[in-house]
Amino acid sequence: MAATNSLKEIQTTCCYCGAGCQLLFTVDPAANKILDVHPVQGRTNDDKACLKGWYGWDYLNDPQIITKRIREPMIRKHGKQSPLEVVSWDEAIKFVADNLTKIKQKWGPDSILGAGSARGPGNEPNYLMQKFIRACIGTNNIDHCARICHAASVAGSMQTIGEGAMSLSIPEIEDAEVIFNIGYNASASHPIVSRRIVRAKEKGCFIICADPRITETARIADLHLQLKGGTNIALTNAMANVIVNEGLQDVEFMKAHTKDFDAFWEIVKDYTPEYSAKITGLKPDDIRLAARKYASSKHSVILWGMGVTQFSQGVEVVKSCCSLGMLTGNFGHYACGTGPVRGQNNVQGTCDMGVLPNVYPGYQSVTDPKMQEKFEKAWGAKLSNKVGLALTRVPERVVHEKDPAKQIHGYYIFGEDPAQSDPDLEELRETLDKIDFVVCQDIFWNKTTLHADAILPGTAWGEHDGVYTSSDRGFQRIRKVVEPVGNIKDDWEIISLVSTAMGYPMKYNNTEEIWNEMIDLSPKFTGATYEKIARQGSVQWPCWDKGPQDKGTMYLHEGGKFATPDGIGIFKTSPYHDPTEVENKDFPLTLCTVREVGHYSVRTMTGNCRMLRNLEDEPGWLEINPADATVLGISHKDIVRISSKRGKVLTRANVTERVKKGAVYMTYQWWIGACNELTISSLDPSSSTPEYKYCACKVEKIGDQKWAWEEVGRQYADLRTQMHINKELSA
Ligand code: SF4
Repeated sequence: MAATNSLKEIQTTCCYCGAGCQLLFTVDPAANKILDVHPVQGRTNDDKACLKGWYGWDYLNDPQIITKRIREPMIRKHGKQSPLEVVSWDEAIKFVADNLTKIKQKWGPDSILGAGSARGPGNEPNYLMQKFIRACIGTNNIDHCARICHAASVAGSMQTIGEGAMSLSIPEIEDAEVIFNIGYNASASHPIVSRRIVRAKEKGCFIICADPRITETARIADLHLQLKGGTNIALTNAMANVIVNEGLQDVEFMKAHTKDFDAFWEIVKDYTPEYSAKITGLKPDDIRLAARKYASSKHSVILWGMGVTQFSQGVEVVKSCCSLGMLTGNFGHYACGTGPVRGQNNVQGTCDMGVLPNVYPGYQSVTDPKMQEKFEKAWGAKLSNKVGLALTRVPERVVHEKDPAKQIHGYYIFGEDPAQSDPDLEELRETLDKIDFVVCQDIFWNKTTLHADAILPGTAWGEHDGVYTSSDRGFQRIRKVVEPVGNIKDDWEIISLVSTAMGYPMKYNNTEEIWNEMIDLSPKFTGATYEKIARQGSVQWPCWDKGPQDKGTMYLHEGGKFATPDGIGIFKTSPYHDPTEVENKDFPLTLCTVREVGHYSVRTMTGNCRMLRNLEDEPGWLEINPADATVLGISHKDIVRISSKRGKVLTRANVTERVKKGAVYMTYQWWIGACNELTISSLDPSSSTPEYKYCACKVEKIGDQKWAWEEVGRQYADLRTQMHINKELSA
């Protein structure tokens, strides 16, 4: 941090994806204004940023484009039908504490669920959120949006290699000799990670891209496996089949560091390339080539994203990918391994902080009596040893559960917008309206706040200090750039006040005090002090020791020692099964949800940045193959209606060869073209991650395009009014 005349330069970490790029802001403190931003040298980004890094800070100026910043606490004083009224912080905190206490006393601790935030707040408030839910409320019902993205990566990796995070680092990607990129569109999800893939290609890396769409990675791939959606495991099993049948496996690595190969082979032996081809639609020789290439190097990397995890078979595919790594000795040294590349900026960190129903901070099990005793002693509270509820199971426990004693009655939602981001939104709205008491702690009005009984306004990224964790386990500092405006508080302070009002006092003066408490309870993170993170720029966990010698860990499983209890990796996979809801007579197409490079998550932040909003706006797009569009009489840019068993929305047709016939694609941040009105809440049985990537749908032409555009305008204006914006949208 350096001063130039009266201006200040402040370095912080980008808030938009797990790449964790470093940005330098020039600020005029007297005017409390950001004057300039540019990327600077960081461990993961060198000195580069994508468009969100360059232009994604404008929401701090509150231009009120799609929604308005919340600047006062509000409550519904007289029940759900009464209006939200602005109140003092004292009244709002008492209201929240009294209502949660009443619910806890009447229905017990397990009737309340807390959702943490993988977005702006950072690690420290998330540590406090899970501590509040566990120590003050008395339940492990704490979760966050990893549930709807990479929970399958954590579950599948833990069961095979013992650690749920990326085994390698982002910079190592460019030194890979083979990259097997499956279900991961890096250029949209993590543009700066995508640069590493391009650099690897320039250095001679062989790139295999398994994706039903022609993505940017597919375009530069040496081998594009354009498989049918939802058939990943038929491909990975077949690759293992080829590797073993052709004797390409690393027998010594397997003998020394793995077990349960025989059970794995019992499944894989049936997945010949010819058999897999019938399921995936691929050519058997392409599957053979992928397997041979992947097995040909000790610097082979598998990268995956939500094209793997957001299926009802997501955990099984993750296990299968980890098994491919073990089969070929591609773990435990530089530039190899597995990369579940986390999407949101701090989804890795929010998992690290124990905002999950089964683990305390540092991935320490809530069912391990020793861990329970340790945290009970540290926190001075009796803790539950029962694994909590996943947030995707809330509708089951509200709409579908008839016994009130088993229902969720209180929902504390911190920095998330499930009414936009969760599947089957009609059911989700019904759920929110049936829950006795909903608290939203957030920065903007969003679709979920419309259902809140109390709204607690927190500070945004750029208005507070703390730590994020990048996708590759790297702790990096975030810093306050401007002073918050309005009657708002730091998230950690709000949670502390509610907890204290409920009889479990929390007293902290700053985020470093919270961080120090957390690292002292989490052996994997103990060495990552604020001082060390600031000095090194980044500390990758595990970092066991506070001394300067322990700089953190670039790659996991050094020398083939896996993170399982006995250090041995476990082979696992499963047979293929169809997605839950397949195309049929009434809904003949399949819908898959994907990402939009210029917008982030539910769009409240990037939609309120002038430059990013001007790139793209409502009602979003539906990618459809020209052959399907021709049959339906649809032209490029037409407004169309898309429906599933669960709902229907209007959006625009993007007629493109990029997608296969029979499948359509939508991005998930649009309010009008809201794909989650259509998606199915079918969950992976192990990770409870929804099958966002596959459901049956129907697309219809709308004859009167003038009416369609006016209807989109009406719906958008109505939503913006609900979000307290009453000015016209600029062109
Ligand atoms: Fe921000 Fe990710 Fe873009 Fe980097 S790649 S600037 S972290 S959004």
